[in-house]
Amino acid sequence: MDESKFCTGCGKPIEPGMQFCPQCGMVVSGSAADEQFKENEKEIRGILIQSRRNWLIFFLAIYAIPVIIAAIIALVDASSSANAIWENDSFQKWLSEHHISMTVNDIQNYITGAATMALLSGICACVSLVCVYLRKKWIVAVIACFAAAILCVWSIFGIIIGFLVGWMIITSKDVFDDWPEGTETEE
Ligand SMILES: [Zn+2]
Repeated sequence: MDESKFCTGCGKPIEPGMQFCPQCGMVVSGSAADEQFKENEKEIRGILIQSRRNWLIFFLAIYAIPVIIAAIIALVDASSSANAIWENDSFQKWLSEHHISMTVNDIQNYITGAATMALLSGICACVSLVCVYLRKKWIVAVIACFAAAILCVWSIFGIIIGFLVGWMIITSKDVFDDWPEGTETEE
C-alpha cells in the first residue's frame, strides 16, 4: 500500500501514508480514512434499509391481520348477518322504495363473496409481508401486494394505500437483494 499514488480528485501525487490529498482534501482511496468512510456508509445504508423494511412490515401487517380476522368472522357469520339485515325494517323499506327484489339468500351470497375477496386480499398481503420479512422474492412481494390492493374492491382508500405500498416495495429492491454485510442477519 506504500507505493506512490495519485489523487483520484485532482491527479496530484500522494505521499505514502497520507489519508487526504493536501491539494484538494479528497480522501485517499485505500487509506484508513477511506476504509472508515466506507464502513460508515455501509452502516448508514444498513440502518436505512432496516427502517424501510420495518415500515413495509408495519403497513402490510396493519392491513392483513384485521382484514383476515374480519373476513373469517364475516364468512362464519354470513347467514345470521344476512338474516339480521333482512329483518331490519329500514332495509325492507329501502328495498320497496327502490323496487329492488332481493332474497335473504342474495344478501348472504353477497356477504360471502365480499368476505372471500377480503380473505384473499389479506392472504396476498400476508404473502408479501413474509417475503419482506425474509428479504426474499422481491417480485413475489410486489405482485402479492398489488393483488391484495386490486382485491380490496370494497374500499377505494384501501386500493390507493395498497398501490402506494406496492410502489414502496418496487423501489425497495435493496431490502431484498444485496443485504449489506456486517449488519445483523437472522436465519
Ligand atoms: Zn487532490
